Amino acid sequence: MHIRKITLFLSAFLLASLVVMAQTHTAKQPPVLDVSSMDKSVGPCVDFFAYSCGGWIKKNPIPPDQASWGVYSKLQDDNKAELRSILESAASAGARRGDVTQKIGDYYASCMDEKVIQAAGAKPLTEALERIEKLSSKGDIADVAASMGYLGVSYQSALFNFSSDQDFKDSTQVIAEADQGGLGLPDRDFYFKDDAKSRDLRRAYLDHVQKMLQLLGDKPDVAAAEAQTVMQIETELAKGSLTRVERRDPNNLYHKMTAQQLEQESPSFHWAHYFTRVGFPSLTSLNVTAPAFFKALNTELEKEDLSHWKTYLRWHAVHGSALYLSSAFVNEDFNFYGKTLQGREQLPPRWKRCTEDADNDLGEALGQAYVAKYFSPQAKQEALKMVKEIEAAMESDINSLPWMTLTTKQHALEKLRAVANKIGYPEQWRDYSKLEIVRGDEMGNVVRARQFEFSRQLAKIGKPVDRNEWQMTPPTVNAYYDGQKNDINFPAGILQPPLFSPESDAAPNFGNTGGTIGHELTHGFDDEGRQFDAQGNLRDWWTPEDAKEFQTRAACISDQYSQYTIVDDIKINGKLTLGEDVADLGGLILAYMAWRSHTQTQKLEPIEGFTPEQRFFIGYGQSWCGNTRDEAKRLRATVDPHSPDKYRTNGVVSNMPAFREAFHCKTGSPMVRENACRVW
Ligand SMILES: [Zn+2]
Repeated sequence: MHIRKITLFLSAFLLASLVVMAQTHTAKQPPVLDVSSMDKSVGPCVDFFAYSCGGWIKKNPIPPDQASWGVYSKLQDDNKAELRSILESAASAGARRGDVTQKIGDYYASCMDEKVIQAAGAKPLTEALERIEKLSSKGDIADVAASMGYLGVSYQSALFNFSSDQDFKDSTQVIAEADQGGLGLPDRDFYFKDDAKSRDLRRAYLDHVQKMLQLLGDKPDVAAAEAQTVMQIETELAKGSLTRVERRDPNNLYHKMTAQQLEQESPSFHWAHYFTRVGFPSLTSLNVTAPAFFKALNTELEKEDLSHWKTYLRWHAVHGSALYLSSAFVNEDFNFYGKTLQGREQLPPRWKRCTEDADNDLGEALGQAYVAKYFSPQAKQEALKMVKEIEAAMESDINSLPWMTLTTKQHALEKLRAVANKIGYPEQWRDYSKLEIVRGDEMGNVVRARQFEFSRQLAKIGKPVDRNEWQMTPPTVNAYYDGQKNDINFPAGILQPPLFSPESDAAPNFGNTGGTIGHELTHGFDDEGRQFDAQGNLRDWWTPEDAKEFQTRAACISDQYSQYTIVDDIKINGKLTLGEDVADLGGLILAYMAWRSHTQTQKLEPIEGFTPEQRFFIGYGQSWCGNTRDEAKRLRATVDPHSPDKYRTNGVVSNMPAFREAFHCKTGSPMVRENACRVW
């Protein structure tokens, strides 16, 4: 899951909650193109983002519980209320035990029962903490690591991540996978950056770790020393971790080896115990994404005392469970991860957090009710129709590419034709019958849900790939491309007004949702996606000359974006955002081509004072209306492979001759790049 080569449309990091309502057929849908959201005092050729979105930004200040606020997050947030109403009615339905309605209703009711949660304090963690305390040798750490997923600690947060994945080089098979992890800060780079703000952040992190351990009862001076220990161990693990840019190359993440080889490379961690404890005593081989990380882990296991490891594990136990404990834990967690790291002012209300949790843990149970209520078969048909039009545009685009030879074109077309289109929701719903949800047992529900998910992932090992599976829940306002499955996925949540509306003229619909579809499709052919073939295998299908041509064109884009400033003196890391930037440009070019052919027999007239071409681009620009807090901008600069909204707009249109023509921009205007980039 962590590793899967899927590329999201929006930052997953900050869109904590990805929930929305869908197609309602009420009269008052927000239009796809909203003239009152523009700022016509700015020239479209000077700053197209400000021109399209100036009015929206003035009208929509960032709410205190949000890190950023844009068209997508507003859609999520406004409509979270829809999921709330589904959950509330499920909670009061008195459904039969085991029913999907019982599960989502009791899960939500337990999460909302603040009184019970408050009274329990840190008690739900007792078992996990005792297990850690009882460790008598470092050799037993593997047992605790294996059991942490079952004890209320996210299996992704302590020591490393273990799951299953499609074999990069045999896309029909699922294998086991061990990946780097074990950090409390959001990225390895946070442990090393040496500017003043980064040093402040590390101080704040130490302070946070100390406070959390104090909440477990440790004395302040003891907890302060323990925080230093945590920092010491995590810094060493971070040193062994790959950077985000390194992780963009799938070849850097594929190291299939036998279980014996892994044991030889990191003998201080008892892998045999670990595999037995997670239910795979005879595991023979696996993918180790970052061998250097497991060497670093091994060195640390040798070097640090058992008491230090107990401290590290205690920290991760409380860190991984904080959100489900009493308010002292929730508030301290928010202080660091919400306020310090993202600039949020207020904790979101409890119902929002519980709705997000229900979406995370029971997404396809809640999603069933959501789709039944808000996503019509017609909406699905309309979306599919647009997807097919964009795919047809890509076919003619590839055929007419001036820089690619016929051989590579044939492979590219084969890959394009093999792309599976997944719209709205899964063909078959996930079976939650083995997951027990008990009213009044908040932590128990969360732990069982995590255990269920962990087991579900591991159960795939050694089995053929299920191509119907989704990596996102139906109400999610986001989309993704999966390079290993070669499919594009558009949850019901993103196919909604104001992003898409059957009541709108075609131009803004194509500029907005058409651009998103084109974006996902282009991911199959960006710097990362192009390394997978039609079947989703990591295999080079490019002639060396064509690969070189691609790289030259991609470099044009990374050079362009690397010059844009995010905040302070922090520039975009154009190598980190390359795939997204290539997809944004390719996506809008494809959407424009598809819109042209969609309307070729129609006589198009201006509407609301804008030509059809202008409406196409304003529709695109308005999909990115939004504002982000400075703290969140700094965070995103390191962790987010997407460029800021302003550049997802201006960076794209300034490369497109069709934009220049639509707005009659003069040579030398800021929105007309002298040496425009184009890949696809
Ligand atoms: Zn993307």
